[in-house]
Amino acid sequence: MLPAPTTILNPTAADDQVCWLNGGFVPLATATVPVLDRGFIFGDGVYEVVPVYARAPFRWPEHRARLRRSLAKLRITDPMDNDQWASLVEALVTQHPWSDQFVYLQVTRGVAKRDHAFPDPAVQPTVFAMTSPLTLPSEDLRRRGAHAVSLPDERWLHCDIKSIALLGNVLARQAAVDAGAVECVMYRDGMLTEGSSSNLWVVRDGAVLAPPRDHRILEGIRYGLISELCAADGIPFMVRPILRSEVESADELLMSSATKEILPITQLDGRPVGHGEQSGKPGPIGQRLHAGYQRAKTQA
Ligand code: PMP
Repeated sequence: MLPAPTTILNPTAADDQVCWLNGGFVPLATATVPVLDRGFIFGDGVYEVVPVYARAPFRWPEHRARLRRSLAKLRITDPMDNDQWASLVEALVTQHPWSDQFVYLQVTRGVAKRDHAFPDPAVQPTVFAMTSPLTLPSEDLRRRGAHAVSLPDERWLHCDIKSIALLGNVLARQAAVDAGAVECVMYRDGMLTEGSSSNLWVVRDGAVLAPPRDHRILEGIRYGLISELCAADGIPFMVRPILRSEVESADELLMSSATKEILPITQLDGRPVGHGEQSGKPGPIGQRLHAGYQRAKTQA
């Protein structure tokens, strides 16, 4: 299922965009899947979001590996090999005019008569991929920092799977938006988990604290990157459960994702994050990590 030969389009409107659907490129605006697709019926599928800088996918092997892990956890047969996935992403990027993009990949278990159990025999997975211009946080947001609200983490216990079933995340994000915030800070059993679509980091006494990579959070591709950036910059990086009280008294609070990169959270539940002069302002560790991230982009 190799991507078809590429046609260079020059899309000016969303209607001109193409997407990959089950073996070929089709116009995004009119692409459709059957209503019995298990992605539509059950949310039975997985996805990836890959940032692309200067037309090159960033940390592609890591994204590809996570896609493979998510598929394996749901026992969906990986529909393509590494080379085929890589050429699909490349072909998609080539056909769109933006230098920086984010590529969305989705695989569902496929189309079958509605029954909760997996179809037996298995059906062909549905493969969908599209790309959009990557809009990073504005300079203004980066200077002011994001506002966030605390919420109980009410999602399921397989948050390590990058599942398209995102209702818990959707409701959490909407609760944040309703409160005028950009993201939420979620807790399970009194411990920090993550945001609705980002990983969260606590800075205390010059060290970056990271919640453990287990079933309670999605291991962001920036998780590994941030640990590398800390190592390169001599910033202690500690993986351990983080208490709510430690978040609320943090020196700095950071969020990370493919589309936000590393962004400071400067207000939590209407109160400034941090202490003294730094209170409510982006802090030095976040700034160092952001700078390291920008360097990593150009070295990729
Ligand atoms: N957690 C959740 C729930 C997410 O949706 C995301 C973004 N996909 C992340 C963490 C961060 O992952 P990444 O760094 O790969 O974007």
